[in-house]
Amino acid sequence: MEKLQNYINGQWVESHSDETTLVLNPATQEPLAKVPKGQASDVSAAAEAALQGFHEWKSTPVSKRIQYLFKLKTILEDNLDDISRTIVLESGKTYLEARAEMIRAIENVENACGMPTLMQGEFSEDIAKGIDEYMIRQPLGVCACIAPFNFPGMITFWFLPYALACGNSYIIKPSEKTPMTMTKIVRLMEQLDLPQGVVGLVQGSREVVDALLEHPIIKGISFVGSSAVAQYVYSKGASHGKRVQAQGGAKNPVIILPDADIDMTTQIVIDSVYGCAGQRCLAASTIVTVGAHQDITESLVETVKTRKTGFGLDSDVQMGPVISTDSKKRINELIDHGLHEGGKLLVDGRKGQVEGYESGNFIMPTVIEDIPLDGLLAQTEIFGPVLSLVHMNTTDEAIAYINSNRYGNMACVFTSSGLNARKFRHEAEAGNIGINIGVAAPVAQFPFSGWKDSFYGDLHGQGKHAVEFFTQTKVVVERWLKEWSRKF
Ligand code: NAD
Repeated sequence: MEKLQNYINGQWVESHSDETTLVLNPATQEPLAKVPKGQASDVSAAAEAALQGFHEWKSTPVSKRIQYLFKLKTILEDNLDDISRTIVLESGKTYLEARAEMIRAIENVENACGMPTLMQGEFSEDIAKGIDEYMIRQPLGVCACIAPFNFPGMITFWFLPYALACGNSYIIKPSEKTPMTMTKIVRLMEQLDLPQGVVGLVQGSREVVDALLEHPIIKGISFVGSSAVAQYVYSKGASHGKRVQAQGGAKNPVIILPDADIDMTTQIVIDSVYGCAGQRCLAASTIVTVGAHQDITESLVETVKTRKTGFGLDSDVQMGPVISTDSKKRINELIDHGLHEGGKLLVDGRKGQVEGYESGNFIMPTVIEDIPLDGLLAQTEIFGPVLSLVHMNTTDEAIAYINSNRYGNMACVFTSSGLNARKFRHEAEAGNIGINIGVAAPVAQFPFSGWKDSFYGDLHGQGKHAVEFFTQTKVVVERWLKEWSRKF
């Protein structure tokens, strides 16, 4: 079985740590690779190489830097099928979900190709007589990304293309649960012939994260993962003088108003709850109906029962397993807890099995109704295929519930009234809002805009925020005296 390596200074090298963990196929438990736990000396080697690479890269004109990204786009497109299959194998999602995440990754590469304009500065002539002032953007230096397991290909691309186009060198730390996808992508990126050290990859877990947060060469950290770790990364990184953006967990509410189109709403809500087996930071989790709810409840329950669960590379499969046996146990315990708290089980997915994949971490789509809003199930990010259904009487009550949520990644409303939608958009306290949309995932030119405990920092991933994050502004005030000029 392959032991995954680090990519440092343009070479594949062994980690200094001997300890490894297994990467398992969540649908079968088949071991796919061994990943080193990593240690601080791996990070030091990567940081030093990245600093060497940075010296050349920062003075490569931006118009030349983006030529590498144009090539990267083509390489990713040419290898889309192969990369998507690797994502399915190690993360458990379906082939279509894997492809979709890579399409979003490619969109970010395309968007970063606009960097010659995106990172332009500003100029004011004669701010005082004979004095001009201007602002230029320069790269930060060596930056790093610490990624979660659930989008092994896409999430690094919320940052990496912008970091490179702005002139930074970049170190990737994939999740130890799904490290194969970025390893494959970095292997493909060797075809780009980037200057040595400009892109590095360090495998590992906690010790590697700590070393990235402490290393003096590293100037910027982009983190995506659970809120507890996001908060830790944000404060530790900041205390070591780094610029940090840390995207955290979520518990996303969806409000269905009585005037919503039932068929469309049902389809979108089911896709939003059960896509990627609920392991999305934008997964709809608590579905709140306002007013009469019998028709929508029946429609949701009937549709849930038709959802096909299985191995993501098999045809017609709509939902895969969850990432690990631990995760499956945790989700089943949360469902049990919700029942003890008074919830009613409308669809029970705890015992289901997939023929031919009896060892897989499968939980079938589950629906639980009337859970208490102050209970554990309602308050916890489930990160599994569980729809919690709650009924309320008024839109104000539903919005107040959203605003009491500690998380603020996404909130959605389904309605046919523009006025209700406008009120919702204005009052709901979440950074990404969906109006008749289930997963309000911003496209590449917009920031991925989490709020509250879903985000620690100022500048989000993607779009113009990424340009701001990966550059520092330098303001120049300039005077030239007439007496110094030679006459021609
Ligand atoms: P995680 O927090 O367990 O791990 C994320 C990264 O942090 C990994 O690279 C891991 O190696 C590292 N890590 C884990 N524990 C650590 C610790 N104690 N100290 C230092 N480093 C540590 O997250 P996960 O389980 O891989 O991913 C799921 C979570 O990510 C969910 O909460 C989900 O909502 C969140 N997520 C958020 C977004 C977003 O945009 N807000 C996107 C995707 C996933």
